Amino acid sequence: MATELTYLNDFVVLTGAARVLSVNAVDDDSRTDVVLDRTCFYPRGGGQDWDTGVIRGASGDFTADFTVEEVRLDPEGVVHHLGAGPLAVGDEVSLQVDVTRRMVNTRLHSAGHVVDLAVERLGLPWVPGKGAHYPHMSFVEYDAVLPPEEVEAVLAQVQQAARGVIDAGSSNEIRFMPVSEMGAYCRNVPANIPTNKPARIVLYTADFGVPCGGTHVADVSGIGTLTITKIKSKKGLTKVSYAVDGIN
Ligand SMILES: [Zn+2]
Repeated sequence: MATELTYLNDFVVLTGAARVLSVNAVDDDSRTDVVLDRTCFYPRGGGQDWDTGVIRGASGDFTADFTVEEVRLDPEGVVHHLGAGPLAVGDEVSLQVDVTRRMVNTRLHSAGHVVDLAVERLGLPWVPGKGAHYPHMSFVEYDAVLPPEEVEAVLAQVQQAARGVIDAGSSNEIRFMPVSEMGAYCRNVPANIPTNKPARIVLYTADFGVPCGGTHVADVSGIGTLTITKIKSKKGLTKVSYAVDGIN
């Protein structure tokens, strides 16, 4: 049965209560795989890294915490918490996500969507493709051809537009809806939206929604200073790399 993903319900869900459904030794017994009925731990996906943190057992004794080192979502929608610590099936547990790591990932991921919004505001006919929002590597890629002599000017325009979006701030909104209705809010609805988690959009502005199951800032001003570090275009793909001040 799919794990209930409580982090989808609001912008910042870092704690929660859950029940342990299974505990299995994995990786040659060096780690334990814990499955819960619900989780606030973000599993790696959509270019955003997984959460770490602790799962505290029924005893409430922090020395018995299960340390969550890695979180994965399987094709059936089950979240696997990989780590170490004493937990047993049936335990009622409390969850605590590492706040610092989550906020870094959230700001980097949201910055990618701000680049998308900047591209849209500039009227560039670029179609968003894959993205990566990791501290060591942050970029968004588009189906777009950009002649080399235009790169420098476009980079400056995208950066200015993106910073304008952040300076203006936002009141982002979360909405769940069938994929068939997303087109009314989102300019681009990918054909391959994951089916192993609930379909959700995040509205960055009233007319700019993104179909996305990652974690997002509630207000883009929380991202900080965004710098476009590089634009590279080849073979019909244009890759926009970026950095967020204080992170990368
Ligand atoms: Zn996203």
